[in-house]
Amino acid sequence: MSNPYDIIIIGGGPAGMATAYMCHKQGLSYLVLESGKAIFQGIANTYPQGKLVYPSKPKDAPEPFLVEELRPPDKPVTVESYLQYVQHFVQHENLNIQTDTAFEDIRDERDGLTVVTSRGNFKARKVLLAFGSNIPRELSVYGDAKMVAKNVDDPAKYIGVKTLVIGGGNTAADVVIAVLKTKREQNDDQPVYWAHMSEKFDVNKETAQRLGEEILLGGNIRLLPGATPRIGEVDNEGIDRLVIRINEFKQADGIDLYHALSFPMQNVIACIGSQGPVPIFDKLGIQTIACASGVCTVAKEGDRLVLLTADFESTRKGVYVVGGAISPSFMKIAAGSIQEEKHPNLIYTAINDAYYVVEAIKKSLGR
Ligand SMILES: Cc1cc2nc3c(=O)[nH]c(=O)nc-3n(C[C@H](O)[C@H](O)[C@H](O)COP(=O)(O)OP(=O)(O)OC[C@H]3O[C@@H](n4cnc5c(N)ncnc54)[C@H](O)[C@@H]3O)c2cc1C
Repeated sequence: MSNPYDIIIIGGGPAGMATAYMCHKQGLSYLVLESGKAIFQGIANTYPQGKLVYPSKPKDAPEPFLVEELRPPDKPVTVESYLQYVQHFVQHENLNIQTDTAFEDIRDERDGLTVVTSRGNFKARKVLLAFGSNIPRELSVYGDAKMVAKNVDDPAKYIGVKTLVIGGGNTAADVVIAVLKTKREQNDDQPVYWAHMSEKFDVNKETAQRLGEEILLGGNIRLLPGATPRIGEVDNEGIDRLVIRINEFKQADGIDLYHALSFPMQNVIACIGSQGPVPIFDKLGIQTIACASGVCTVAKEGDRLVLLTADFESTRKGVYVVGGAISPSFMKIAAGSIQEEKHPNLIYTAINDAYYVVEAIKKSLGR
């Protein structure tokens, strides 16, 4: 492994990219690791098409946007134009980003930290977690093979193969519609299997209408209600496969019978929802505090909030957390006390966190 970076930034959203730009301006070495295929993937995945992006600022916030270059324009533009603007800006500034790289873990070393990812390990003096608040849930299956897509960036990838979409909600339905449509347009008669653990799919009326339309136009779909992903295994040819049980017959002799399908994992898309970042904080050994009755005003009783210094450093030394990952509130250690700190989930807060965290890290590195 080569020299450590001053900062490795996990997540290429507003917080991560503002941090990268600040590092670039201040002469700190850095690398952004983004799990999606492009920067701002979190926004691209969650904003509806054509949504206007507002430069919202909390009412009581005294400061302007501290990284003006990434600020959404005053006259709101669509998410597509904002993404295009940001992409041009990042290219123009030649910021150091590696996409398609999912963060997995951090290891302490004698001389710094090692960041473990789906594409190898990287060394850093400090790590900034800027992975937002929507962490896709993992499939919980037995076995070692677990890597399946969580969304569809290019439906054409599934041409010519039987595709399995898992999940019962609108996101899964949208993926099914996108793949069916592409297959139909390219005269591909391989079906899309749509599996859900429960017997009933749960989509809104508008999505159901679009799906119905796609089916009437010839979309080849097979529904698998009550199907459960069970095992991730590597077959004799070294291909990772997902075994999904589609029904089960209880027998009087106690030996149950079931049917299952096995799909190459690269043909599987799992849209099984997202979760907050607490499970990742637990995995990394970063301390959180549960809100007791009457203690928190933003969070609810029982919610677990991450514990951070006023400089956004977590209880794991050298690991900082900013942006949506600490919204809508966190526990701040300041002047010897710990208090809940309001932190609205906005592009404004993500960008301004980046400004302050780079100042703090620069100081801590003695630059
Ligand atoms: C529908 C919707 C509309 C909104 N509209 C507005 C608005 O108009 N104005 C406004 O100010 N705010 C708006 N927000 C909120 C705003 O988008 C967020 O506050 C902001 O995106 C948070 O930035 P972030 O960088 O912290 O996180 P994100 O934007 O979520 O970025 C995190 C990035 O990390 C990546 N990532 C996640 N996990 C990993 C991993 N394991 N490894 C590597 N990378 C990873 C993700 O792919 C993503 O690109 C809206 C939010 C939603 C959901």
